[in-house]
Amino acid sequence: MPTYAFRCADCGDTDAVFPMASVPAWLDCRACGGTARRIFSAPYLGAGSSTAMKLLDATKRTASEPAVVEALPSRRTSPGPVSHNPLHAELPRP
Ligand SMILES: [Zn+2]
Repeated sequence: MPTYAFRCADCGDTDAVFPMASVPAWLDCRACGGTARRIFSAPYLGAGSSTAMKLLDATKRTASEPAVVEALPSRRTSPGPVSHNPLHAELPRP
């Protein structure tokens, strides 16, 4: 059964387990007996073990742990003229 979060205005957050079909919108606070309303939070997306989750984790990790480059990329050679139109050869070059 999933765990749902509830918040009491006086005591703070608490968790409770309910079947998905019968989760209440509020419950009695265990500490003070007041009303604790259900709150919605982000699901634990990073807790998965699928390939997509591994990709998301690796992408997020690049922000703090970038890949180390040990050599400069190989020098690109000029691909040659792109156009074979002789009029293009007369255009100014940078
Ligand atoms: Zn309370």
